[in-house]
Amino acid sequence: MRIFKKTAVLKDWLNSLNKISFSVGFVPTMGALHQGHISLIQESKHHNSITVCSIFVNPAQFNDPKDFEKYPITIERDIEMLEMADCDVLFLPSVSEIYPEGFSEAKQYDLGFLETVLEGKYRPGHFQGVCRVVERLLEIVVPNNLYLGQKDYQQCMVIAHLVKLMDQQSNIQINICPTLREASGLAMSSRNMRLSEKEKNIALTIFQSLELIKNKLAKGDMNELKRKAIIMLEHKDFRIDYVEIADANTLTPLTEWDGKQKSVALIAVYLNEVRLIDNMILN
Ligand code: AMP
Repeated sequence: MRIFKKTAVLKDWLNSLNKISFSVGFVPTMGALHQGHISLIQESKHHNSITVCSIFVNPAQFNDPKDFEKYPITIERDIEMLEMADCDVLFLPSVSEIYPEGFSEAKQYDLGFLETVLEGKYRPGHFQGVCRVVERLLEIVVPNNLYLGQKDYQQCMVIAHLVKLMDQQSNIQINICPTLREASGLAMSSRNMRLSEKEKNIALTIFQSLELIKNKLAKGDMNELKRKAIIMLEHKDFRIDYVEIADANTLTPLTEWDGKQKSVALIAVYLNEVRLIDNMILN
């Protein structure tokens, strides 16, 4: 695996490839890799001649400085995992490579409704930071295919919107890969590294409440179903940001379900200091 730390050197190397016969797949991450990330690498390897993974803990997307400080960093193990997965390129930039002019003054992306609901509402500024880093990374890597995890459902929608806004890049194909889970059902997440074994068992309730919503989904009122999931989570002392059932294409919250509309349940909670998110397509 080739490791690049400098933007210009990576760009030169990518430009030297024969783009007519090469397709580039790109997997952006913040490191602390797990099998969920590796499944994206495998998907990219399957469909592209070159797979580029980036590891960059993006300061611009953390609305909570404590969350940024405590974000797990396991770079040596990440490199081993990427080598084992036969990833072709790792881009490992410093903050000044990504934001040569600093990251406090920023352009604003018009994300419309997506920025006012769920993650947008509870993490103000978060998606602006995501767009800044993803736009910069896409301009550097210029991939044919971008691989994202359904685990970050709303983020996938935001990035799809961003790619449309960046019209010169609009031939980037976005591929959304399924959420990888532990055998217990707990969604794999870098933040799980901050949980004790006991807390991981408790965190499983997030998956169980999504399953409860899915299994009990029936035409009509959604509030009672949400209430049941909230009770289940509160019983285990989670601090809840949201439990929502929404239109799967627009993320508009549903108070009533017509029995046909494609819908998704989304949850964001704190377990002690650790914020966890998960979602499940319901039909
Ligand atoms: P992260 O480094 O956690 O920001 O994630 C990098 C990419 O991996 C994003 O596209 C995530 O949605 C994706 N990802 C994170 N967790 C999982 C998972 N459990 N299964 C599949 N993809 C994931």
